[in-house]
Amino acid sequence: MATGLHAQAVSIHAGRGTLARIAFGTIASPFNYLLMIPQSETERLLEAHLGTFGGMVERGVELTDFVDGPDGVSCTLTHAGGRTEILDAAWLVGCDGAHSFVRRTLGQVFAGDTLPTGFVIADVRVAGLAIPPDEPAIFWHPDGAVMFFPISRDRHRIIADLGAAPLHMPDLGEMQRIVDRRGPGGITLSDPAWLSDFGVNERMVRDYRRGHVFLAGDAAHVHSPAGGQGMNTGMQDAFNLAWKLALVVRGDAGPSLLDSYGAERSGVARQILSDSGRMTRIVLLENHLAQRARNLIVRLGFGIPAIRRAMADRMSGIRVGYPDSPLNTGSAHGLRGPAPGQRLVSGQCDGGGPRFVLAARDCAAARAMIADHASLLAPDICPPPDENGIWLVRPDGYVAAAARNGHWPVIAAALGKVTSYGS
Ligand SMILES: Cc1cc2nc3c(=O)[nH]c(=O)nc-3n(C[C@H](O)[C@H](O)[C@H](O)COP(=O)(O)OP(=O)(O)OC[C@H]3O[C@@H](n4cnc5c(N)ncnc54)[C@H](O)[C@@H]3O)c2cc1C
Repeated sequence: MATGLHAQAVSIHAGRGTLARIAFGTIASPFNYLLMIPQSETERLLEAHLGTFGGMVERGVELTDFVDGPDGVSCTLTHAGGRTEILDAAWLVGCDGAHSFVRRTLGQVFAGDTLPTGFVIADVRVAGLAIPPDEPAIFWHPDGAVMFFPISRDRHRIIADLGAAPLHMPDLGEMQRIVDRRGPGGITLSDPAWLSDFGVNERMVRDYRRGHVFLAGDAAHVHSPAGGQGMNTGMQDAFNLAWKLALVVRGDAGPSLLDSYGAERSGVARQILSDSGRMTRIVLLENHLAQRARNLIVRLGFGIPAIRRAMADRMSGIRVGYPDSPLNTGSAHGLRGPAPGQRLVSGQCDGGGPRFVLAARDCAAARAMIADHASLLAPDICPPPDENGIWLVRPDGYVAAAARNGHWPVIAAALGKVTSYGS
């Protein structure tokens, strides 16, 4: 948070007119802003964090083969100098990006489409943009869109579609011409740090798991960068899988708990593919009449606070949930609090390690439940969102079970699904 910019809103414009400004202050989270941070910086921070656990990323080492057997995966690693190494692992997680070797080796189809329109991207200094310096701004023009994302105190990332032109590497002059034509005017670009082009694929796999092998991140799903959800979705995949793997490796859960990973995460990826695809097609509308109708609808629609709030929630990912998860048990019907599959927003419900947490008022009964499931449940009980209910919160903060006070068998059944799930 200290290294990123905190954007309070994102705005959409046509020429000098503002069509919409979506503020993030309404998001029900202490992090109610857009954190603008280059991905290289996120990766540096994550790698440093991994280091605090004694882990490290071995650069220049490639997975060149693997065989899944009854007890685990035998992996062949090829080092930079050509030396090979056999690594026997209990599990393999293919986080190897859109061209995933793991996915291809599993023979998984990456079903979907490639958008016909290409994009150009440039990290540059921008002068003359009359928008708060830390706010992303999108400009729509009959020719296409140009988007300004502040990525550091003195630099913006500019993205524009190429319309009918084929994919090609832009130069500063071309970016300046696009900005002059599609932007509000009076903007000067300079000092490009990076210029590139990219195409957009919308694809996902059907199965996130085969035997001891999983797929996560872009290896499992790719989509348009509209909405900025790609890396976030991959990290949510990892977050969803990590606690399940930890419980299974520890012997506290049956291996088929791991099947809930794909069941939960593929639904989220499908939704994101559909949302970002729709957003991209709206931006890329070519027909001028359709563009005029779009601009009018956006101006009127985003004039309504409830629509602005819903959009901010969508973009923040705060509403991501698992309503159809096989792990969900019970119901929050008639209670003021999240249903199974929704996040329980409370800083007090952290189990400290991969453990479930009970949120309940009846502490004696909760303590008895904790004593019966000491390895799965955190020792501390947290306050329930409604005094009349009991919540069982998963290690990733989502509700596994909800029930009215006294209905402890519902909680026991949810824990039973984890310990003997599928066996
Ligand atoms: C223009 C653009 C803008 C974007 N903006 C955003 C944004 O604002 N917000 C957001 O959340 N996302 C954004 N994304 C998406 C984001 O960049 C990706 O979703 C993210 O990088 C995927 O992470 P990943 O770890 O799954 O894959 P990758 O980042 O592709 O990493 C895969 C890694 O695996 C390694 N690898 C591959 N094969 C092997 C092998 N056989 N052995 C060993 N290692 C291997 C690769 O070297 C690489 O290091 C954007 C993408 C683009 C193109």
